[in-house]
Amino acid sequence: MKILVINSGSSSIKYQLFDMVKEIVVAKGGIQRIGIDNSFLEHETHDGKETRIDRDIPDHGEGIKLLIDVLLDKEYGVISNIDEIDAVGHRVLHGGEKFTESVIIDKEVEKTIEEYCDLGPLHNPHNLTGIRVCKKILPGKPQVAVFDTSFHTTMPPKAFLYALPFEYYEKYKVKRYGFHGTSHRYVSRRCAQLMDKPYEELKIISCHLGNGASIAAVANGKCIDTSMGLTPLEGLVMGTRCGDIDPAIIKFIMEKEGISIEEMDKIMNKKSGLLGISGISNDSRDVSEAAKNGNKRAQMALELFDYRIVKYIGAYIAAMGGADAIVFTAGIGENQWETRENIIEQLGFLGIKLDKEANKVRGEEKEISTPDSKIRVFVIPTNEELMIARDTMALIS
Ligand code: AMP
Repeated sequence: MKILVINSGSSSIKYQLFDMVKEIVVAKGGIQRIGIDNSFLEHETHDGKETRIDRDIPDHGEGIKLLIDVLLDKEYGVISNIDEIDAVGHRVLHGGEKFTESVIIDKEVEKTIEEYCDLGPLHNPHNLTGIRVCKKILPGKPQVAVFDTSFHTTMPPKAFLYALPFEYYEKYKVKRYGFHGTSHRYVSRRCAQLMDKPYEELKIISCHLGNGASIAAVANGKCIDTSMGLTPLEGLVMGTRCGDIDPAIIKFIMEKEGISIEEMDKIMNKKSGLLGISGISNDSRDVSEAAKNGNKRAQMALELFDYRIVKYIGAYIAAMGGADAIVFTAGIGENQWETRENIIEQLGFLGIKLDKEANKVRGEEKEISTPDSKIRVFVIPTNEELMIARDTMALIS
């Protein structure tokens, strides 16, 4: 059984082909700069063969055709017939209130994903393009949509409602949706496996810390709160996003600077966070380097980043009435051990104890707390693609 996982963006397509018997990635790659000059495809097989094809790729249709050709290629391919692909799993950002779990895509599902384009304008239209193109190029193959928001649909109203006039929820469905759900679901489930305890009996705090960052409180197998909101702008300090701010700041800065709502939106999404405070970069490696060299703004940016996480972890421990485990994942969570150390040390008053040596790990699954720590702490590399492949397989079999 082979499942193709597709993550279709505005000018890019990432793909992984899974052999689900052993749950291994037989090939993976990405297409960049679709519809822009200098477009290219990069491809890698499980036995280490790599290739790059520089070619004009005017649209997603040509991109998917090219990636299928590469999968079938005599030298770099991993299948000999297109029928070896049993199904396609698509990452879709926004599933609104309707999609509480992954679904097989039919006309109705497609229409609903389209309706949710106003909630996820930067992603849903491109996810939909990927779905439509795959339907054409792989006719008759089941297509499955896996939503970033689904995992969070178990949140109760007290966590998902904003204290705005209720009519905005009724009319426009303005509420907390949360994102990175596939990642939070994967690492929290994996954490339960590592603890050898039933998922449904654990209280887990999942910290997805990448360029985009969010935290989820998972109690008894269900997400009960998460830091991102109607959009992925709310919550933690991120690479270029501000996360939580006083909403009144928006009007204040717009009036002072004489800027439009579009410019303000861009400032909060693209020019804030680590980049905004440090003035150096959105990449935590650059900011850390500058901080080590004595750059005060870089030091402040990292302090803000860590402090916000500490506050959220504290809040979610209160929300769940305790916690059994904290998990770190994604680019920063998996790799920046200094960040983990700083966060866990600040939570020492809860009886959480870090094994400092074990913590000096990058991108590896590992328990990093000491045996007598009151809350166990893990690094678990996320694997959203595997989760998408598993959901796809479960739905088609
Ligand atoms: P993501 O969005 O999950 O790809 O994460 C991107 C963030 O992870 C950036 O801030 C990177 O600086 C950070 N990151 C990725 N790899 C490493 C690494 N090997 N060491 C330290 N930070 C890393």
